[in-house]
Order: sequence, then structure tokens, then C-alpha cells
Amino acid sequence: MIRYSYILFDLDETLLDFKQSEQYALRGAVRDFGMECSPETEERYSEVNKSLWLRFEKGEISREELKRMRFEITFGDVDGPAMNERYMYHLSQCGFYLPGAREFLEKIRNPDLRLFVITNGLAYTQNGRIKASGLLDYVEKVFISEEMGRVKPDPDYADMVISSIGDPDRSRYLVVGDSISSDIMLAENAGMDCCLFAAEGKPFPRGLEMHDITYKANGYDELMAVICQ
Ligand SMILES: [Mg+2]
Repeated sequence: MIRYSYILFDLDETLLDFKQSEQYALRGAVRDFGMECSPETEERYSEVNKSLWLRFEKGEISREELKRMRFEITFGDVDGPAMNERYMYHLSQCGFYLPGAREFLEKIRNPDLRLFVITNGLAYTQNGRIKASGLLDYVEKVFISEEMGRVKPDPDYADMVISSIGDPDRSRYLVVGDSISSDIMLAENAGMDCCLFAAEGKPFPRGLEMHDITYKANGYDELMAVICQ
């Protein structure tokens, strides 16, 4: 039996493999500037970007600062905005599914279940990656924070999504995502059920105990069991 009518999926590390896209785009941007990218540099960029996103989600830095600073902090003396432009271009060209994600989306196809994507990413890159991945064959609509002017976990973000879908009954929505600070807190703030997702074999993030998490799913088989109870 399907318990929910609307599933709001986070995009990165929930359906699409952001790590793989990030590596592809970073290598492309670095190559465009005549440099080379070591595995250590890739790791450092990833850490820098993650911490800047957390600061952005808290409202400590602007989107423009985020885009520029991630390269200036990682590479030092570079033209941050220009490097970001090349990175964004390469990122917009690729959309890799997490292993098993496409098969999962095929399996949960059901006329009684409407699927959506809610993502805090940047519009230009997320739209490109979604197009490249073919995700719109499975989901009805994608809500991108940059286009909405609100960022998860802002309750206004949830209100806008719910009003666009058109059913005010929040008990019929399930938020699925890998991030406590954006996905789980969005569900908490908006009074919706949520499922914390980690790809199969990957650990859940720390700090779960302090949150009201309806379900946890490790891998798509467990997520399937949550959705089709
Ligand atoms: Mg995510």
C-alpha cells in the first residue's frame, strides 16, 4: 500500500551522484585554466565547497560569494568568478545517477504517486544536470531554490512547493533526502514526514538523535519499503 501521495526528493546524493559530477566539472575547469588536479586538490575543493554551502544555508555568505570563494580558497591566486563560470559549464553538462537510482524510479512508477524534486542547487547547473540525466521522465516538477528565492529548510520554501502542487494536506507528503540541515529540517519546519536517505553501504550523517526523523533508509530497497508500506 502506498501511504503518501507526493514524494519530495532531494536531488544530490539522494538521486544523483553529486560527487561524480563535481569531480567531472572540477577536472574540466582546472584543465581549461591549464592546470592539473590532484586527488588531494579534489578532496580539498569538496571540503571547502561543503563548508561554504553550510554558511550559505545559514545566511552568512551570499550566493555570489559562495561561487567565487570555493575556488579562491582551494586554489589561492586564481580568478574565482572566471573559474566558477567554467566549472558551472562543465557541471551543467553531466547528470550521473547514484547506483540503483534509475531502477528505483522505474519501480516506484505508480499512477497514485506523484514525484517531485526539491533542491538547493544553482538553477543553471541543476537544470542542465536534470536534463542530461533524463530525470524529467520520472518526476513531475523540479523546485530549485535559486528560482524560488528561498532555500531549504526555510518553511516558505515548503509553502511554495505545497501551494504549487495544490494539496494543503501535509500528511500526504514525504520528504526524502540525505541532509539533516536542509531536508530533514525542512520537513520538521513544515510539519511533513521525512525519510533520511543514505546510499547503500554509506553511513547516516551525525546528529540524527536531536531530530524527529520519521524513517531512515539505507539504499533504495529500504526506501522502496518506506514508500510502499
Ligand atoms: Mg542532498
